[in-house]
Amino acid sequence: MAPMSYLVIAYYLFTSLDHPEEEVAKHKEFFNNKDIKGRIYISSQGINGQMSASEEDGKLYMEWLLSNPLFKSVEFKIHTYHEHVFPRATVKLKAQLVALDVPVDLNMTGEYLSPQKWREMLEKKDENTILLDVRNDYEWQIGHFEGSELPVLEQFRHFPTYAKELKEKYDLKNTKVMMCCTGGIRCELYSALLKQEGFENVYQLHGGIIKYGLEEGTKKWKGRLFVFDDRLSIPISEEESSDIISECRHCGVKSDLYYNCANMDCNELFISCLDCAEKLQGCCSEECTAAPRVRAFQKETRPKPYRRKHLSEVAQNL
Ligand SMILES: [Zn+2]
Ligand SMILES: [Zn+2]
Repeated sequence: MAPMSYLVIAYYLFTSLDHPEEEVAKHKEFFNNKDIKGRIYISSQGINGQMSASEEDGKLYMEWLLSNPLFKSVEFKIHTYHEHVFPRATVKLKAQLVALDVPVDLNMTGEYLSPQKWREMLEKKDENTILLDVRNDYEWQIGHFEGSELPVLEQFRHFPTYAKELKEKYDLKNTKVMMCCTGGIRCELYSALLKQEGFENVYQLHGGIIKYGLEEGTKKWKGRLFVFDDRLSIPISEEESSDIISECRHCGVKSDLYYNCANMDCNELFISCLDCAEKLQGCCSEECTAAPRVRAFQKETRPKPYRRKHLSEVAQNL
């Protein structure tokens, strides 16, 4: 019988690995006969994992990973969900944990702020502080911290250019930059990049928005958190609710439901209300409804992403 509750686990660790391929092999062996799905990337720079697992196997995995001296300082962020949120288990050897085309010195990363410190700093944020949400636009559209700068980044690779623009706009010495992303991994790189550009005061939300929600709830936050798995978005707190801040692209009504366009040759991710989704049969536009390859529309209260190319595989680097 399938378990009633699954652990959804996210973590990363930047650490220098001499033989990442061995760790890949060990993972594959460990995953054998386990009720675990997800994607784990391992490189000479460290490890980055997201998975869903039965409670029993999830706990076994976390113990197993921490028992490896190379990974003993991994910190896990854990949610529960009623089903798996990944289609399969993938363990891959990667050249880089997060793809950026410029070299980044990981000894230069921004100062960690715990969720509590982050909230306190937000509460007394002055005009010399900028709050930078470094996630992609489709992520912050459905939820972000109040007062965030929301750069339009369609890809992680665009960040270095954006960093140069910021440098022109702000005083490098006196500006405090507070940076956040989903689980923290992007901030490790982007905060270092901003410091390399000359910003002196760069802070990163340790454990990302996921950990913030688990520890501080929805204070200073609006909306939902986009995630790269079948849930697509989650409330950041299981206890406190938050208003919907995004709108249906067709009719403008408040909605935070993402759909992959049912036209397989489009597949765009867009926000729609349930009614419009039904009317357009899951398509992003009238035009797409008339396309030759359109998937049958299934009405669900929270649609899942289309799986031919799973989201976690499209956005490889979170
Ligand atoms: Zn609508
Ligand atoms: Zn479309």
